Amino acid sequence: MSKSLLFIPGPVTVAEPVLTATAQPMIDHRGPEFKALLERVARRMKPIFGTERAEVLLLGSSGTGGLEAAVANMFGAGDRILACPIGVFGERLIAIARTFGCDVDVLETAWGSGVDPQALRAKLESAAGERRYAGILLTHNETSTGSQNDLASLAAAIRGCGAYVVVDSVSGLAASDFRMDEWGFDIVVTASQKALAVPPGLAMVAVAPRAWERMDSNRAPRYYFDLKKARDFAALGQTPWTPPVSIVYGLDAALDEFERTGPRRVWERHARYARAIRACAEALGLEIFSAEGAHSVTVVAIRVPAGIDADAIRKRLRDDRGVVIGGGQGKLKGQIIRIGTMGDLSQTDVLGALGALEIALLDAGVSLHIGSGVQAALRVFLETEAPAAV
Ligand code: PLP
Repeated sequence: MSKSLLFIPGPVTVAEPVLTATAQPMIDHRGPEFKALLERVARRMKPIFGTERAEVLLLGSSGTGGLEAAVANMFGAGDRILACPIGVFGERLIAIARTFGCDVDVLETAWGSGVDPQALRAKLESAAGERRYAGILLTHNETSTGSQNDLASLAAAIRGCGAYVVVDSVSGLAASDFRMDEWGFDIVVTASQKALAVPPGLAMVAVAPRAWERMDSNRAPRYYFDLKKARDFAALGQTPWTPPVSIVYGLDAALDEFERTGPRRVWERHARYARAIRACAEALGLEIFSAEGAHSVTVVAIRVPAGIDADAIRKRLRDDRGVVIGGGQGKLKGQIIRIGTMGDLSQTDVLGALGALEIALLDAGVSLHIGSGVQAALRVFLETEAPAAV
């Protein structure tokens, strides 16, 4: 099998110790070893969510299952929900809420930007009495546009409105600081195959105390994704249904590495890689899709010049150089390329992928000074020192 460099924004390259951990012999998922494993992993996920109060549950599903669980347990038919999409995954949250009968109102934001806190505040203030929102749906990091919301500002805008806040941090959590308790979020969802760099198969859902109260009174139907059932089983060191045991082993090993490196250095690595990729694109005369102040640290979306097919560039990169990057989704199909920063990637991997990108762009007819992009990325790496572990 030839080596390929995975630069899509999930699933990502998984480090050797994590892969090895997933290959351990199977154990009884209702036995003492799994109980210790589950409890250890849930405890170690809490600081990553920035919570002491919330319970962290592991669901055998991808991130979308975690999002469905959040919506289905918190809301039901007729509940008025404010959705704040900034791309394809925000739209998926709307689709989930509508599937469960919610009355979804949408705060529109131009793709590539983050939600404007003042616009959010104004929207909440305009909804009074019967028209008050029961819930707010936010995306932390929008993988389809390479943009990231300033959650601290949005949390400040929401504070006091009473609505329950569900946050999709599938492609954000563990790559930057996250403060669930401080920001007052009720449910936060992430998944194994993104910044935690574990194979796909697990959604991790952090549920704040206030959310449990809401679930007690919510009569909307749920079965597989019944979070109260998941909590009851978690208290016994189990999951209601057969869990992906191997992936939980992998997560445990990934958390070893996360803790050894220290959160600050992990966050800084993602930010540095994203900066280097953006610097490369800009040096090549390409436009970054995300707006200034809203750049994601886990994925960089780059517009390809008019007349150039982004998907053809991706194919050349994959076929000729073994470099796998993402393309545009939804209305951005063919217009952008997306380069992820997550996973077990070295600076050398990043520089190699960017060099391959330059060649593919040149072959596609983009006029550029060959080497100028890699040089700009290299400069970012040389100029930014890794901070000490915390
Ligand atoms: N939300 C965001 C922001 C994502 O990036 C993704 C996947 O890329 C999802 C939700 C859906 O996650 P999954 O593909 O694990 O179901």
